[in-house]
Amino acid sequence: MADSPSIGVIGGGILGLTAALRFMQAGARVTLIEREDHVGGLVASFQIGGTNLERFYHHLFRSDVDVQNLIAEVGLGGDLVWPKPDTSSFFQGRIWGLDSATDVLRFSPMPLVDRVRMGMVLAYLKFERNYHKLEGQTAAQWVQRWMGPRAYNAVWGPLLRAKFGDMADRVAMPWLWSRVHLRSSRLGYLRRGFYRLYHRLQEVLEQGGVEVLLGAEVRAIRSSDGNVEVETSAGQRTFDRVLVTAPTRLFMRLAEGLPDDYRARYDWGDYYGAHAVILGLNHQLLDGVYWLSVQDPGFPFLAVVEHTNYMPPSDYGGLHVVYLGNYLPMSDPLYQRPDADVLSDFMSALKRINPEFDPSWVVESHVFKAPFAQPIVTVDFHEHIPPHETPLLGVFLANMFQVYPQDRGQNYSVRMANEVAAQMLQGLAPLT
Ligand SMILES: Cc1cc2nc3c(=O)[nH]c(=O)nc-3n(C[C@H](O)[C@H](O)[C@H](O)COP(=O)(O)OP(=O)(O)OC[C@H]3O[C@@H](n4cnc5c(N)ncnc54)[C@H](O)[C@@H]3O)c2cc1C
Repeated sequence: MADSPSIGVIGGGILGLTAALRFMQAGARVTLIEREDHVGGLVASFQIGGTNLERFYHHLFRSDVDVQNLIAEVGLGGDLVWPKPDTSSFFQGRIWGLDSATDVLRFSPMPLVDRVRMGMVLAYLKFERNYHKLEGQTAAQWVQRWMGPRAYNAVWGPLLRAKFGDMADRVAMPWLWSRVHLRSSRLGYLRRGFYRLYHRLQEVLEQGGVEVLLGAEVRAIRSSDGNVEVETSAGQRTFDRVLVTAPTRLFMRLAEGLPDDYRARYDWGDYYGAHAVILGLNHQLLDGVYWLSVQDPGFPFLAVVEHTNYMPPSDYGGLHVVYLGNYLPMSDPLYQRPDADVLSDFMSALKRINPEFDPSWVVESHVFKAPFAQPIVTVDFHEHIPPHETPLLGVFLANMFQVYPQDRGQNYSVRMANEVAAQMLQGLAPLT
């Protein structure tokens, strides 16, 4: 084992944890370095009603087979449940289902002819497998052309603007294709939290001899004489190979000696931060709806997600758990606002959705933010995705911004971890 190649993995989200598992299984000496004092990355949890819950809403789709396999591999497959919760939209002051063909046909704010047309185009996107055909076009142009301006103005324009703000008109059509093509109406959740997956992975790694360094922030990465040096807040480490799972923009700041043309091409693009308020209520807020996309203007959030209309409130000490989520440019004054102001803005907007809502319903509240949480997938985005192998010898980059045309998702990080681990292990000295 002492002669086995040493591999450093930077980042303890699902990508780093899965890659570390594959390196460990191949017999390498592995160190996982995470700047927070816990693993989980964007799926980190907190406690509400005595149970761990993700800081940002998370569920799986049926097509997310790689992460389902991982969950089964670590023995938690029996706890992955697949309800079919109600997902709806808030438009012109009321709640509309838009999740099935019948719902689309009932959407009376649009003339019937537009509803039929939208339904047919959605069916096309569901069945079309080749997203390359859609390359080079924005979602805004494509939807207006094929579904018509009324469908764009009533449904898709508000959705894109809610998620991407001023950048909405520049979002690539393949991104929207992946959102329609791969979604299922049954949604998967690991009962009592994805925390259990992350906790189990950490346990498996530590039992298998992986060194898990928490609270160690990587400050510089350099490659010299066939070794990779990693400078962290907890001291310097040297490895044969290093996998970085942090965002590309951050990698560019950490890596020393990258050529100018590489930086010019890949140190590129915009990202938004995620903002979420989580309320523990003593009343149900939405009448059975799990996911409510907010399409009316003037709301400080784009979705109201009543988690306990999906999982039972009894899992959370009887509380009704509601997420209010948004994405914002990290430089936006709203993103920088103190938590108390965010909370009060978000709560006052809730009365527009349920006029009976009263702040006295709130038993507990939490505010979370995460930078670099949503890439802005513009038409030329795919030309700026770096390959895994970087110009620094022995240093590889794999992160959730390389999963184009998919939006982020634990599944795609797991798939990428499996692929990049296999790539990195090739050509290393035989492992013992
Ligand atoms: C609001 C929101 C909702 C989402 N909903 C879903 C969903 O419903 N279903 C789903 O599957 N996915 C969802 N996702 C996406 C999912 O969270 C991500 O795809 C996944 O967690 C990415 O994992 P990762 O390991 O690639 O990256 P991350 O989780 O970002 O992990 C990167 C890790 O690197 C660490 N790191 C960064 N810099 C350094 C440094 N200098 N030194 C040491 N460590 C460092 C970070 O602390 C972090 O732990 C959602 C994301 C958001 C933001």
